[in-house]
Amino acid sequence: MSITAVDHPLTAHYMSILRDQSTEPEKFRETTRRLAYTLLLEATADMPLETYDLTTPLGPTTGHRLARRIVAVAVLRAGLGLLDAVIDLLPGVKVGYAGVQRDEETALPQEYYSKFPDLSGTRVLVLEPMLATGGSLSWAIARLKEAGATDITSLCVVAAPEGVARMEADHPTVRIVVAALDTHLNDQFYIVPGLGDMGDRLFGTP
Ligand code: URA
Repeated sequence: MSITAVDHPLTAHYMSILRDQSTEPEKFRETTRRLAYTLLLEATADMPLETYDLTTPLGPTTGHRLARRIVAVAVLRAGLGLLDAVIDLLPGVKVGYAGVQRDEETALPQEYYSKFPDLSGTRVLVLEPMLATGGSLSWAIARLKEAGATDITSLCVVAAPEGVARMEADHPTVRIVVAALDTHLNDQFYIVPGLGDMGDRLFGTP
């Protein structure tokens, strides 16, 4: 598994706004969207291109376009925070959703909703902002592999070492692009220093 922590001044700037507990949901959503652009540039930097002929007002030249389709899959609900930037930036992107919750009795991930576009021959970007224990992301990637995904990159905002280790063990061929690598999980499985509950902070729930 490869992991890239995006090293860009804008990523650090937006990350700090997200970490600040005084950032209100509206600003938090806007900043998540802006941060997502910086993750997306890294996650797509190696996309293959094909050339085609085009004509500018001054004459013929060679154009470039992406040679592979991109599918984004938002892990509900925090992954929705990254989705606006994905839809804005990526040409022709199709979007899937993966809904998972923890079974209270078994503590295992339990699917409550999933819908994926055709994944064959695509790069799949999995939107899972908080890589904490890695349980949800590992489950979502297993589902995507079952559905035919082979080229998978996960976009994360913050990752904990525990989640990274889980991904290395479960999905060694997956790539992770992350804005920040934090130190540890607390005893309630929140990332420290982290930014709190991403879904709550995006949507203003308690
Ligand atoms: N999910 C979150 O939203 N925040 C964390 O710190 C861990 C998991």
